[in-house]
Amino acid sequence: MASSKRPHDPLSAFQSVAAPGVRGGVTTAPGLNSDRARVSLRDHEKYVSLTMEFRCNLKCVHCMIEDTMDRLQPAPEEAFAKVLEEQREHKRWEGMVLTGAEITLRRDLPDLARRAREAGFSRVRIQTHGVHLSRHNYADELLDAGVNEFFISVTGSDSESHDRITQVPGAWDKMLAGMEYLDQCDDVRLLTNTVVTKLSYKMLPELVERLSHLKRLVQMEFWNYWPMAETDTHDYCASHEEIQPYLCAAILRARAYGRFVEVKNFPECLLGDLGDALVNAQPLLIIDPGFWKEFDRNGFYQCVHRESCTSTECLGLNTAYIEKFGNEAEKLYPLP
Ligand code: SF4
Repeated sequence: MASSKRPHDPLSAFQSVAAPGVRGGVTTAPGLNSDRARVSLRDHEKYVSLTMEFRCNLKCVHCMIEDTMDRLQPAPEEAFAKVLEEQREHKRWEGMVLTGAEITLRRDLPDLARRAREAGFSRVRIQTHGVHLSRHNYADELLDAGVNEFFISVTGSDSESHDRITQVPGAWDKMLAGMEYLDQCDDVRLLTNTVVTKLSYKMLPELVERLSHLKRLVQMEFWNYWPMAETDTHDYCASHEEIQPYLCAAILRARAYGRFVEVKNFPECLLGDLGDALVNAQPLLIIDPGFWKEFDRNGFYQCVHRESCTSTECLGLNTAYIEKFGNEAEKLYPLP
């Protein structure tokens, strides 16, 4: 059958991948601020993300899906095959994200990547803690299979902090060795993801500095922690006021190194001139339906200034944050 390219249409994309055992969805509305393409990769609508593994061999203290990992099921073969079929016929996306908990624990990851490339995905991204990438033969196997983007979770700014937060000694050294190996490979794009908690926010500028030697690091993302619950029981949320100076310094430093930056879940009004770093969009996510029930507990979009604020990107505050710090009516201000 002749293939035809489908224009971007979130609803039909959502319907096209419906399969038993999964539910597609986006965590925020994509594509609202196209001018932000200049300052971030802003490519979320060109990707489809599949959660294919729910085991992990690190124990990050801030893990947002920790409490659901034993209940959620990876997307089944049928769902994966359906996405490939849709791509073969309609070339709907450019890239596929294979994610999990930790996707490299799947022994058939190279096969999944190869099948994705054969179906017409030009980019295959894995979201990983990066530890297994230090084995060069494994990294080569992934590259040969067509993985060309590595979205790596960096939790601290050095081995002491990263290993303390991931609770696995040696995790930093292996992750960094893997990134440095991939940094020498053509056609590879590296991205980082750092969860901003009470434990990590002060380290953000130093973290940017520590990775400044990587040539293929195109984008750094800073995800302000949310607990996937109505209460911050682990006490990992830091206040926006505490985070703001460190976050802004990290954004400026990353941009000075030529990186794109994306910040998630931070009030746009508190970023001042750096408000364009806020990009809350995500690719269409195909995942166990149980995830969405947990996600809805966050209660985003609460802000006393919502009606008068023109921000289209901001998630406002969430339930756990308000319970801990109040609604910050005096600190937030509506964008004109
Ligand atoms: S006033 Fe509220 S909605 Fe507007 S940018 Fe600030 S936090 Fe976001």
